[in-house]
Amino acid sequence: MQNNHILIIEDDPKIINFLSLALKAKGYRLSAATTGQDGILNFCTVNPNIIMLDLGLPDIDGVAVIEGIRKVSQIPILVLSAREQAEDKITALDAGANDYITKPFNMGELLARIRVMERFIIHEKTSEPADVYRFLDLTIYLQKHRVFLGEDEVHLTPLEYKLLVLLASNYGKVITHRQIIKEVWGYSETGDTKSIRVCMTSLRRKIETDTSHPKFIFTEIGIGYRFTDTRS
Ligand code: CA
Repeated sequence: MQNNHILIIEDDPKIINFLSLALKAKGYRLSAATTGQDGILNFCTVNPNIIMLDLGLPDIDGVAVIEGIRKVSQIPILVLSAREQAEDKITALDAGANDYITKPFNMGELLARIRVMERFIIHEKTSEPADVYRFLDLTIYLQKHRVFLGEDEVHLTPLEYKLLVLLASNYGKVITHRQIIKEVWGYSETGDTKSIRVCMTSLRRKIETDTSHPKFIFTEIGIGYRFTDTRS
């Protein structure tokens, strides 16, 4: 997997140079674009496996780049965000980004995020319509709507089950509060994160051995939740 082709869409030449040096040294192939429109053009012409995208671009907003690419492709997109506000990350995730990293980032953290992106590529290539999900000692039988922790059946309410399946089917990816409200509750409005928290608390009590150190569902503060990508 070390020869994956990464397209960097970023207008800061210093960051492009730094990333090019570091990632080429790790065996990745690199292409770079300094505007959103060039980025979309390069995406179509160089056929990358992974996109790293700056949100603050000189021509079009990074979120518009995500929306354009998502119309035609599920390529993993890692957002490089210089902005501290959670709202920009949420907008990018809602538009279909897989993950984000906030600048300034350290190289070890960035490489770890890229490895997560690589798992999305493998997942896409080998994904058959799964009937059973297995993560650590948790098993979800989708057709039977049954959930087991080890040998023991876990009894979930319909909302808890929908929430668990939404997160598990997007394992490793941050799912925003807005996406959860839309997919689990069926509303398009935002805001009601209280019902998510209540449902999440009771779901965690049922599946996590230690709710203060979850091993399945991790909180992304102010943004949403991420399901473990440790499959079994
Ligand atoms: Ca920028």
